[in-house]
This record gives sequence, C-alpha cells and structure tokens, in this order.
Amino acid sequence: MQSTTHDSNAIWQQCYLGLGSNLSNELGNPKQHIAQAIAQLKAHPHIRHIQVSSLYSSKPMGPQDQPDFINAVVGLETTLEPLQLLDTCQQLEQNAQRQRLRHWGERSLDVDILLYGEQHIQLPTLTIPHAGINQRNFVLVPLAELNPKLIIHGKSIEQYPMSHDYTGLRKLPT
Ligand code: AMP
Repeated sequence: MQSTTHDSNAIWQQCYLGLGSNLSNELGNPKQHIAQAIAQLKAHPHIRHIQVSSLYSSKPMGPQDQPDFINAVVGLETTLEPLQLLDTCQQLEQNAQRQRLRHWGERSLDVDILLYGEQHIQLPTLTIPHAGINQRNFVLVPLAELNPKLIIHGKSIEQYPMSHDYTGLRKLPT
C-alpha cells in the first residue's frame, strides 16, 4: 500500500480512523475484519504509534434488518497526505472484499478518516473532520476513550453529548 508519490520528509500527523463491520464473508467475521485492518495499518511503512480503542457493538444507522455493527477507533501517526490516507482506508475496505449493497447497509468493512491532525478539509471526496462525527456515539465514545482531550470543531470532545451516550452501544469485553 506504499504510495509512489510519498514525501519521506513529511511530518508525522496524529490521525484517527473509525472502523466498522457487520458482515462476515470468506475472509472472516466482523471482529476478524477489524483485526485484519489493524494488522495492515501496523504493517504500513508510513504509519506508526497505533492505538486501538475497545470494540463496541452498535445498532445499525440505516436499514434495521441487518446485524449490529462492531466498531472501533484507531489512533495513529502518519506521514501520508490526507488523500493518500483515504486511498489506504479504501484499500483496506477492498482487502476485506467490501461490496456496495445498499446505502447505510451491511458491509464487511468501513474505514473512515475521523480527524487528520487539526486540519479542516473540504474536498469533493474528503471531508475532515468526518461529516457525521458529532452525531455518532459509536465514533465519539471510542474516540474519547483514546483521547479525552481531543478538540473537534473548536470544542472539547467531552462537551459533545454523544461522547457519553450509550444508546444502542455496548462496550465489548476484551
Ligand atoms: P462510505 O459509504 O461511508 O464508505 O463513504 C464513502 C465515500 O465517502 C468515499 O467515496 C469518500 O470519498 C467519502 N468521504 C468523504 N469524507 C470521508 C472521510 N473523512 N473518510 C472516508 N471517506 C470519506
């Protein structure tokens, strides 16, 4: 997954990724998809200092006739540029043989960039902080677990009600 345009003098940026899965396939079940994605991130030459939150189960946001999701948040440092990191995330989804079935539907792996340093990015293919971040407890609860001092849109993560809201959310035993 090494980018050919990578600048090896680039600085390390603290980033956070949201991972989710609710579909098994021949490559594994949801917990295995998440574990395999984390293993690939750990092996990436331009990613270091990986932290992983607890796993959580969450009710699906879209159609309710699908299994609960397993979610986790990963903190990491990377020298990849934002769009290179997006490519890496999409490569992880492809490696889990993700198929687009229906909007907000079941998936073997979803990987979103939640935060990229303190940057605000608005591109056709990339919004950072991630557009849904403030309304999603399955993102904010594990994110606050990793770093309760985070600032999102100028506000401490602990000031977002969803960072304390366990509706539909369950922390899984380790
Ligand atoms: P999804 O269906 O959640 O996998 O959304 C995929 C699309 O969201 C991709 O085509 C991305 O270009 C776009 N996108 C915009 N912002 C982000 C972000 N922060 N992280 C991941 N994907 C993003």
